[in-house]
Amino acid sequence: MPDWLITGCSELLTLRGSVPRRGRALAELGLIRDGALLVHGDRITAVGPRRRIERLKEARRAEKLDFGGRVVLPGFVDSHTHLIFPSSRAAEYEQRISGKTYAQIARAGGGIRSTVTNLRRASSSSLRDRARAHLRQFAAHGTTTLEAKSGYGLDWKSELKILDVLHQLHQQQPLDIACTFLGAHVVPPEFRRRPDAYVDLLVKRWIPTVATAGLAEFCDVFCDRGAFTLAQSRRILTAGRACGLVPRIHAEQLAHTGGARLAIELHAASADHLEKVDGGDIRALALSNVVCTLLPGCCFHLGLGHFAPARELIDAGAIVALATDFNPGTSPTLSMPMILSLACAQMRMTPAEAISAATINPAYSLRLHDRAGSLEVGKYADLAAFDVASYREIPYYFGVNLCSLTMKRGAIIHSKKR
Ligand SMILES: [Zn+2]
Repeated sequence: MPDWLITGCSELLTLRGSVPRRGRALAELGLIRDGALLVHGDRITAVGPRRRIERLKEARRAEKLDFGGRVVLPGFVDSHTHLIFPSSRAAEYEQRISGKTYAQIARAGGGIRSTVTNLRRASSSSLRDRARAHLRQFAAHGTTTLEAKSGYGLDWKSELKILDVLHQLHQQQPLDIACTFLGAHVVPPEFRRRPDAYVDLLVKRWIPTVATAGLAEFCDVFCDRGAFTLAQSRRILTAGRACGLVPRIHAEQLAHTGGARLAIELHAASADHLEKVDGGDIRALALSNVVCTLLPGCCFHLGLGHFAPARELIDAGAIVALATDFNPGTSPTLSMPMILSLACAQMRMTPAEAISAATINPAYSLRLHDRAGSLEVGKYADLAAFDVASYREIPYYFGVNLCSLTMKRGAIIHSKKR
């Protein structure tokens, strides 16, 4: 791998500064005009104004990569995805548009349970190939690190199949994947009449095994109406934490259940969704280190028109992150630029806030902020270049992919021909 001297960054967004970002600091991008970077191996060895970096003696030996006046920022860190699934649910999408409710679709065998049925039948290789194609698209949209959850298997063999595929992908393709065990996604059909027996199985058998075998770093639960109760969620996340799995939680999406407060109580890394948080929750989250991961793709795709209160969370001082929630039922997008557009237009985040919420704050929520999420000396050379005149144009041109080059650990993994 060559050493790189990267120049031609009309705006180099380093994102250096406080970690995590809260309140006003969320808009601090560490912007350098006409910036440059030196990369040695997989790491950044110098960052600064071009005139200074070009004079360094290491710069003479490095291969030159001139972006010719593009906006360069850290690769996006997508901290909430359901990467492994067997097929799209486009037919169901059309039924919903035609007026069928989610409950009607679910009764007819659709919804999340149809994904579970198909995943259980799918081979590891077909799941891996599908995910690999999606990962190439993540990279093409500027993402260099992502989190991925199990949760469409819901029996031991199938959950293990997902975690295995994730580990293979982490080894075999360039993007870094942080792994989350979401055995508590929904109650599987076999346990419909005895959900607590399923929670017992998770707590006593599956979670300890996942932790001991090092198959995941995080444990997640869908704490909501129609999924797991607050008491069940507490049991599951507490069991995970006792074996070293850091808690994450799907909280306050469909109904207000107390999931956000539970995240604070258990020192969770992240509370995700939060469309239904109230004022008390917002104040409590602002005093905590729980990252509030907002998923506007979900509200957009479902046509809900009710987004999480990003403005209130930021202004109160909570740590806010953005993610795609890539999944076949409620958010089939892997485009972080599209999520930025939704965050700005629908949740009144400024473009600068949205960029911090898609880089350094999600890196913090994945405990990867020592190596990802900003362009600083010692960190991975993970970056994305956009064919725009100003960073504000990244969310402004919505639904268009203007990412022209993505670098992961010093290797070019996506490049658009001009
Ligand atoms: Zn999710």
